Amino acid sequence: MPRPPLLALDGVSKVFGARTAHWWQRFFSRHSAAPHTGVHAVSEVSLALQAGEVVGLVGESGCGKSTLGRIAADLIKPSAGQLLYDGQPVAELEAKERLAMRLAVQMIFQNPHASLNPRSRVDQIIGAAPVLHGLVSKANADAYVCTTMQSAGLDPELRFRYPHEFSGGQRQRIGIARALAVQPKLLICDEAIAALDVSIQAQILNLFMSLRDELGLGYLFISHDLGAVKHISDRVMIMYLGRVVESAPTATIFSRAHHPYTKALLAEIPDLSARRTQFTSIKGELPSPLNPPSGCHFHPRCPFVMPRCRVEQPELRTLEHGHQSACFLDA
Ligand code: SF4
Repeated sequence: MPRPPLLALDGVSKVFGARTAHWWQRFFSRHSAAPHTGVHAVSEVSLALQAGEVVGLVGESGCGKSTLGRIAADLIKPSAGQLLYDGQPVAELEAKERLAMRLAVQMIFQNPHASLNPRSRVDQIIGAAPVLHGLVSKANADAYVCTTMQSAGLDPELRFRYPHEFSGGQRQRIGIARALAVQPKLLICDEAIAALDVSIQAQILNLFMSLRDELGLGYLFISHDLGAVKHISDRVMIMYLGRVVESAPTATIFSRAHHPYTKALLAEIPDLSARRTQFTSIKGELPSPLNPPSGCHFHPRCPFVMPRCRVEQPELRTLEHGHQSACFLDA
């Protein structure tokens, strides 16, 4: 029997309630008077990550990709659908198995400064969890921290320093070392290079790729930057307003994209120096998830819109093996 995926999302949705909706109403102020039923951050998304696989998850700010990443890391509960680890529903795991899952799936955040405790030394930041969870004895913790720092490209001599004594790129490496210290199988990287200088972004991407080769790590690489995603991913999923609109092997996305939104993203791959979070080639702004457009969510911005697009929701359909698109246009 084939092994189940390491991690899978099965028809996952997330609707945030009144407090979050109030924040979004202020963010999308033009919709502030419209009635709403909560923020539909993620709608019926399915995804399977095989061990050692790298999947890029791409979309504009506010499309729900970070929420999806947090659901995948078991940090927030889905409103519907389920998260599976090694074929088992995570919500049904025993406490010990669920902890093992949470250690195996580690998250790397965008802002390394905010995710590191400023009062802890680097050796404490990296060494605390593996000692706590019995992965290494207290007596061997210092050597373990040194080895882990080296894996993340950090000088172990610096382990008694505090986070503020490091550059942004080094702090991101500390965050990566902290994740590596609990021997994960999958890293969920949420805009993990977006806050870094251009030259450092390339170094961190190279580190991710060498860790994949050395340790067999898989990644869910969440980014607004298709250029970076092309560099690292086996497969790409494109999200728009909470839904997956296209999914394909990376080479297919870049040579035979089908969905008009994907094509618009490709028309203006943000270059690393520009640090754009909006795709200016796409007309109009991302609509509010408080009141998403009817039918195909992309229809108000789509140059190929047809009457049915305004009323019918296109399902993801398979165009060729491994290539799916949610659009009524012919392949
Ligand atoms: Fe455009 Fe219609 Fe396709 Fe949506 S379904 S992307 S509106 S052509």
